[in-house]
Amino acid sequence: MITGDFHTHGSFSHGKGSAMENAKEAVKKGLKSLAITEHGLFIIAGGLHAKEIKEARQEFDEAQKAFPQLKMYFGVEADLISPEGEIDLPKEFENVFDVVLVGMHYFVKGTKQRNVIKIVWRNLFRKFIRDREKLKEINTRALVNAMHRYRIDALSHLGTSMPDFDLERIAKAAEDTDTCIELNNKHCSLSLEQLVFLAKTNVKFLLSSDAHHPEKVGQVEQMLALALEAGIDEKNILNLNQEYIPKRLREGMA
Ligand SMILES: [Zn+2]
Ligand SMILES: [Zn+2]
Repeated sequence: MITGDFHTHGSFSHGKGSAMENAKEAVKKGLKSLAITEHGLFIIAGGLHAKEIKEARQEFDEAQKAFPQLKMYFGVEADLISPEGEIDLPKEFENVFDVVLVGMHYFVKGTKQRNVIKIVWRNLFRKFIRDREKLKEINTRALVNAMHRYRIDALSHLGTSMPDFDLERIAKAAEDTDTCIELNNKHCSLSLEQLVFLAKTNVKFLLSSDAHHPEKVGQVEQMLALALEAGIDEKNILNLNQEYIPKRLREGMA
């Protein structure tokens, strides 16, 4: 079973739960660790905005205090916001979070509007784009750059909202930068064929629920079955039968 769920949403992400309820559920399910990863800072509705961080941290701390047997991590599911691989995590907030996931979500506001349009809108309106090879190149480069620019724990639901990318180059960058590819139980965004390809690489994985309801915390069975069917080695799933330590904390220990 997984030892920790590193992708769950609470009250700041249009989630139905809260840090407290997610923690309660995690303990009930026998998890040792839990990350609360609210949506990124630039999400228009349902993200953790900069001015709410303090309040979110307070809720988080209360939950951690109520469940000391659970190791909790304060995280964020940030958004890819430019073809250069920028994410919506300004420098001053980089050290606020223990866990950073990065994914593609459409409704972000950007300070550099043109860049947002170049990557977010292109994916949103991809059906109208004739040159999908070009889009594939833009997406691949953005994700590869993001992995090199930031300390990212995992790419969340790779493929969701952004299906055009070169998996081989992304896998290589994930290996080089020690970034996990998420096995997301809510979206199951990677095809069996893509998982079979990844099983043959040295990529590491995090198996997550992406829970938006407390009862979904720790639910990963469907995605786990698919990963094993694809031949992914259990040892490469870093929160399965072993405890995952987030990148920032590992570096802090070194
Ligand atoms: Zn997401
Ligand atoms: Zn999510």
